[in-house]
Amino acid sequence: MNSDILIIGAGLVGAAQAVALAQAGLRVALVEAAPRSERLKDSYDGRTSAIAFASQKILESIGVWQRLDDTCAITDIRVCEDGGTCFVHYDSTQVEGGEPFGHIVENRLLRHALSDAVDECEGITQYEGVTLEHLAQDAAQATATLSDSTILCAPLLFACDGKYSATRERLHIGIDEYRYNQTAMVMTIEHDAPHHGLAVEAFFAPGPFALLPMTKNRTNIVWTEKDDMARYLMGCDDAIILEELHKRVGTHLGDFRLTGPRHAYPLRLIKAQRLFKGRCALVGDAGHGIHPIAGQGVNLGYRDVAVLTEEVLKQARLGLDIGASQVLEAYQKRRHSDIESMCAATDALNRLFSNSNPLLKFARDRGLGIVERIAPAKQFFMLQAMGLGGSDVPTMMRGDAA
Ligand SMILES: Cc1cc2nc3c(=O)[nH]c(=O)nc-3n(C[C@H](O)[C@H](O)[C@H](O)COP(=O)(O)OP(=O)(O)OC[C@H]3O[C@@H](n4cnc5c(N)ncnc54)[C@H](O)[C@@H]3O)c2cc1C
Repeated sequence: MNSDILIIGAGLVGAAQAVALAQAGLRVALVEAAPRSERLKDSYDGRTSAIAFASQKILESIGVWQRLDDTCAITDIRVCEDGGTCFVHYDSTQVEGGEPFGHIVENRLLRHALSDAVDECEGITQYEGVTLEHLAQDAAQATATLSDSTILCAPLLFACDGKYSATRERLHIGIDEYRYNQTAMVMTIEHDAPHHGLAVEAFFAPGPFALLPMTKNRTNIVWTEKDDMARYLMGCDDAIILEELHKRVGTHLGDFRLTGPRHAYPLRLIKAQRLFKGRCALVGDAGHGIHPIAGQGVNLGYRDVAVLTEEVLKQARLGLDIGASQVLEAYQKRRHSDIESMCAATDALNRLFSNSNPLLKFARDRGLGIVERIAPAKQFFMLQAMGLGGSDVPTMMRGDAA
């Protein structure tokens, strides 16, 4: 079966990529390993995503943002250190336009919105509960054989199958990898006092601890611990977890209780050494799985989508081969600096803050104090958080169709 683009993986990035291309009139084959009955269960993914302003615009351009009616604006961000005296306080009214930095969106709701958008695109043919078993490329196309023996061909293939991408392995694209010996435990609390749109990132020696404001007086918690301790805590009952949470969260949310299950995500940095080979490109976590310390992973993936869509459509509108090497070379070139700097920044932040060296602790305190006092430095970090730091602004990042 032939299509224009073959996408492996219908996660948060792959599904958005499919919709962007299909809405522009291309025929997309979308292959997803997890059946929808599993993928759309509430318990499948307990995370929320901090969706930066730029990603909101990208999701708006494909009509997905408009389907989300339960998002919570982040209007303040407080960065502090366990026991430290200095903190940085970002206030969105200090940014031109006064837009919120972003919104906290529940991944389960984003998955539903994306899945509905995919279902409504006539140009997308979905293959669910199957995986890529074999991949071949020649001068004209990529050919994928699926686990149910279906054979799919297209001039262009996108691997959107996540950090541990099997497609990337089949393409023999090497990776740079770092195991953090950290696991992020994710849980949600319901509290009595309002959070007023405040997101908090507190640095503890084993790893960062983040409070992300949700609707209906709820807060999502990303609590990072060393792997052994996380394994132990995941086995503890809620009373023990709540006791520790009360020490870390403080009193600003009033009394609170856990709602829903806890989830654990082991953390690794995985960066592909190149973003394409032949007619196949890596998109989203398949190209760059980063530490969640700054809540930027999926935002980086949505910026891949915006650039790649623009390059493919430029070529398609000229009636040229969309899988030609210059398309994917342009994609790799335009994405290089954003990806490199985000991988380096998140890695460096985690190394700097996740330790108890007293000298580093002193330097960190001073560093946060300096950022707080220097207006241009604060402005720089605020724009980065909104996804507006670079000069490359693809059409979708302005909220327009590509
Ligand atoms: C604790 C935590 C908190 C985070 N918070 C944020 C945040 O606040 N903001 C932010 O921007 N990012 C955040 N991230 C990062 C974000 O979750 C990821 O960047 C994002 O999920 C990547 O999406 P993806 O579609 O590229 O990959 P994935 O979400 O991994 O999706 C890959 C898809 O491919 C499918 N698949 C896998 N293998 C195959 C195969 N062989 N064949 C077919 N299908 C296959 C999978 O079933 C899946 O549906 C966080 C990450 C963690 C761990």
